[in-house]
Amino acid sequence: MHEKRHPTRYLGEEYKRLVQESLNWELKELQTASEPICTIDGKQVIMLCANNYLSLSTHPKVVEAMVEATKEFGAGAGSDRSIAGNMTLHEELDRRLAKFKRAPASLTYQTGFMANQGLIPQLCGKGDLFVSDELNHGSIIDGVRLSRADRGIFKHKDIENLAQIMDEAEKHQPPYKHIWILTDGVFSMDGDTAPLSEIAKIAQEHDAGVYVDDAHGEGILGEGGRGIVEHFHLNRDQVHAEMGTFSKAFGVIGGHVTGGEDLRNFAYNKSRSWLLSGGVPPGVAAACIAAIDVLETEPEHVKKVWENRKYFLSAIQDLGFDTGNTETPIIPVMCGESKEAKELAQFIWEKGIFALPIVYPMVARDKARIRVQLCSKHTESQLDKAIKAFEEGGKKQSLI
Ligand SMILES: *Cc1c(COP(=O)(O)O)cnc(C)c1O
Repeated sequence: MHEKRHPTRYLGEEYKRLVQESLNWELKELQTASEPICTIDGKQVIMLCANNYLSLSTHPKVVEAMVEATKEFGAGAGSDRSIAGNMTLHEELDRRLAKFKRAPASLTYQTGFMANQGLIPQLCGKGDLFVSDELNHGSIIDGVRLSRADRGIFKHKDIENLAQIMDEAEKHQPPYKHIWILTDGVFSMDGDTAPLSEIAKIAQEHDAGVYVDDAHGEGILGEGGRGIVEHFHLNRDQVHAEMGTFSKAFGVIGGHVTGGEDLRNFAYNKSRSWLLSGGVPPGVAAACIAAIDVLETEPEHVKKVWENRKYFLSAIQDLGFDTGNTETPIIPVMCGESKEAKELAQFIWEKGIFALPIVYPMVARDKARIRVQLCSKHTESQLDKAIKAFEEGGKKQSLI
């Protein structure tokens, strides 16, 4: 006889299992704004793992734009953009972003996750092929899973492997109608960048589309923080869809995809997440526009985050820490086993530094690390304090 069914008991059992295996999330509570010095769970700490790279979430112009637009246009858009909620501010944000990206058109979504999950499954269907980097973000993976297209996974940043898969794909019968290569621009666990020029070249040889998710590259890479497409001097015939988010360097929230007019028209007519879900509040759209303004008029923030990155990275490397393959303000401080990363994170936490340990299953079992993310507002003395904590903890655990 089968075990008696119970509607919800398994929820608690599953949670218990996660706790037993130390795979559960322990949520910390941020009790102040996301600033370099903040209060978390009642403790004042230096924030070293926010996505707020340019410290724009508290930039006066961005905050004021949100407040003013909210007063004038209300707290919500009143509808999905597809029905009755397509406000002037949404349209302006789409246009401003395209202009910033030096591209014909952009479409903004409610979040980056929704952009990937809504658009990707529409790009390829039965008889088509997605080819995806093995370390791509979960929202890309979900987007691909929602599609009936075939899938190929290439080894992380491995151009030869990608070329092999593409050559293999040419032999498929009947021939694939559409092929898209999907890649993160900056990989969030290691801070390394995709070899986008080489990917674009291979794509061109096979008449395939290129879709890059630049969530962690925007505001960081390229002239004025315009992102990875600008960084590699590629054009919109080489990278056909540049997806990104306003929730990281832009300091607000919202997703987007940038490319040609055809892409925009296709995207808003086909993405279910866009068609069937409310538009972002007008205050959010206004804050995103203000964040673009700041990027265009105050280049010092991008400059500063790179300076901070250089300062922290060289100090941490001089101490003897392995920092993997970072090329951006995401710096993995490698620890080995999960236990080591958790212990070091706890140690620096006690010293007033907040950076998250990244452990299995997010990364391989022996590649646990503390992921540091620098921002433009960190001061040298804050970074010195963090470096000292890493030094003490690293020595204590014989990591260095
Ligand atoms: C954060 C992130 C997303 C999701 O963006 P949100 O706007 O926060 O939903 C998508 N892709 C990558 C690579 C990310 O890092």
